[in-house]
Formats: sequence, C-alpha cells, structure tokens
Amino acid sequence: MSRESLGLPADLHSYLLSVSVRESEALRALREETARHPYANMQIAAEQGALMAILVKLTQAKRILEVGTFTGYSALSMAAALPDDGKLLTLDINQKTGQTARRFWEAAGVSHKIEQRIGPALETMRALQDSFDLIFIDADKSNYDLYYERGLELLAPGGALLIDNVLWGGRVTDPDANDADTEAIRALNQKIHSDGRVDCCMVPIADGLTIVRRRSP
Ligand code: SAM
Ligand code: CA
Repeated sequence: MSRESLGLPADLHSYLLSVSVRESEALRALREETARHPYANMQIAAEQGALMAILVKLTQAKRILEVGTFTGYSALSMAAALPDDGKLLTLDINQKTGQTARRFWEAAGVSHKIEQRIGPALETMRALQDSFDLIFIDADKSNYDLYYERGLELLAPGGALLIDNVLWGGRVTDPDANDADTEAIRALNQKIHSDGRVDCCMVPIADGLTIVRRRSP
C-alpha cells in the first residue's frame, strides 16, 4: 500500500478521485514528473491537495508556511488557492527537488506567490518574525514535535496547523514498529489529543492529516 493512499479499498479510492478531484493540468504534470523520482510517495495525494486548497479558501488564508517542499505539489495546490496578493513560504533542505518545484510553479503562474528557503527548517522557523494563517508540517518526522511547538508560536490568531502522515502507513498501531519516526508521530498524536491549547481533528485522508486550531487564551 502506498503511504499516501491509506484507508480506502482501491475501487472506492478510484471512485473518490473520479468524482471529487479536479486536478489542474499543472498539478497533473507535476505529479507525472514526480512519479519518476525514487521517493515519489513523499508527494501528497491528489485528494489531499484538494482538501488543503479548499481549507486555504475557507480560512481566507493570506500567509502560509510550509515545512517540507519536495517537488512542490502541496505548495502548488495551496498557492493556486491563495488570492493574488497571498504569500506562501516553503522550507526544505533539498536544493535539487526545490529546482523542480520552482520550474513547475513558474509554468503554473504562481511563483510570484511563493518564496522558497533552502536549509534546515527548524533554524529557519526559529528565525522567522512573521505570523501565518496556515502552516503545513510535512518534513522529517523526528522533528515533528519541534515543528509543532514553533508552528503554534508562528500561528496568527484563528490560524490553523496541518500535520501530515499522522497515520504513518498504519505503523502507529503496529506494536513491532518502534523506529524513531513512528515513535515521534505516535508521541505527537497523543500530545495533541490532550493539548488544551488547541482544538484538533484527525482526518483519515491519504496517510492521515491532523488539523489544529489554537484556542483563544
Ligand atoms: N509536501 C511535499 C509534497 O507534497 O510534495 C512533500 C514533502 S516530503 C514528505 C519531506 C521533505 O522534507 C523532503 O523534501 C525533505 O528534503 C525535507 N526535509 C527533511 N528534513 C528536513 C529538514 N531538517 N529541514 C527541512 N526540510 C527537510
Ligand atoms: Ca507527507
């Protein structure tokens, strides 16, 4: 099973895609190019891109932070949903996949909305002074808790955090899965569940997406 399409039987998943996802030509082209990458399964699922795009519109987000760019599919999904004066800042350590991303953002006509920074995401996040309406966390899982805590600090009032891969291909419930990434995701899921600072909801789409909203003090 692909890490990014957990949850539904194949026929229902195909049905869901056929009646709910309107993937743009730009997104389709990027998905096809990324399919040739050895880590293509790091890309978010098309239906998750659709969910994130509608969340951008529903929240009327204007400033988005993304942690984990890869070849740029999730950034393109969200940037296309931003108003023309909206901004998305995306962070990654990989220059090469970042170049692919930029090529596709330019072709899609959204590159003026996207700023890309290459380097360890935590360092960049610690240096940021801005606040964000929406933050998407999708980089190295062992740092998830640190991204979550810094993300909460960077959220604008009423803003939302999205945390990806929270079901981790089912390994979160596998008693034999004790690797660092699985443990980090399990620990953060538990922490968020009992975190009185936030409202939360885990959506079983693709590999699991948690939505967190900071409560008013
Ligand atoms: N959101 C992307 C998409 O939909 O295509 C997928 C992101 S992929 C799952 C995770 C990315 O995190 C990789 O591109 C990897 O280079 C990046 N990454 C890993 N460790 C990082 C770190 N310490 N700082 C910044 N980026 C990191
Ligand atoms: Ca992911």
